[in-house]
Amino acid sequence: MIKDNLSEVQRNIASAVKRSGRREEDVCLIAVSKTKPVSLIMEAYDAGIRDFGENKVQELVSKYEEMPKDIRWHMIGHLQTNKVKYIVDKAYMIHSVDSLKLAQQISKEAQKQNKTCDILLEVNVADELSKFGLSCDQVCETAEMIAKLPAIRIRGLMTVAPYVDDPEKNRTIFRKLKQLSVDITNKNIDNVFMDTLSMGMSGDYEVAIEEGAKYVRVGTSVFGERNYSINKEN
Ligand SMILES: *Cc1c(COP(=O)(O)O)cnc(C)c1O
Repeated sequence: MIKDNLSEVQRNIASAVKRSGRREEDVCLIAVSKTKPVSLIMEAYDAGIRDFGENKVQELVSKYEEMPKDIRWHMIGHLQTNKVKYIVDKAYMIHSVDSLKLAQQISKEAQKQNKTCDILLEVNVADELSKFGLSCDQVCETAEMIAKLPAIRIRGLMTVAPYVDDPEKNRTIFRKLKQLSVDITNKNIDNVFMDTLSMGMSGDYEVAIEEGAKYVRVGTSVFGERNYSINKEN
């Protein structure tokens, strides 16, 4: 069943890639496995998926311990500074950096653990009150400050677009994130790379690919609906 879901998502990704004249290797599916058990995640792994997304530190850490070590774990949820130390060595990329303070903590822990941490800046493009993320006009100066920190590398931008019935409604959001990344690239800030856009979820990943997404974060369309009542902490 997971295998069939994956085939369908991958087919949709391939056609969006083709429509937009991009290359298949420039787009990567992150299977968002939050709340899902290891047994189900292993089905996706066995079908060839190596990129998984989690939004809770504890869940990422325990799945990291249990699952094969060639998995790239993406931290996509809001991150508290006091939990940074648990994932700096386990997350392949942290997509949800939304403050200088958090970046400072990541830099500090990464230095301690002798590694460099790849991050994305989360942008609240639609200015939704319910969402985390920098506002569009904060991104550039925040990037400049974070860029000066050791052991941390800005790779691009991430956004969680609004929940909409028609994915077309989010096209302008994705386009705006892309434009922001172009604007930042043009500033030529040392130690800032803008090769990665993380945008698009189950409802709108095809549009996101058409607008330049490198990572699409797809949960429901791969693993089915999430049941939050089973495990309250999620
Ligand atoms: C849960 C989640 C997703 C996946 O959402 P679906 O609609 O289930 O595909 C993507 N990104 C973030 C940040 C999430 O928290």
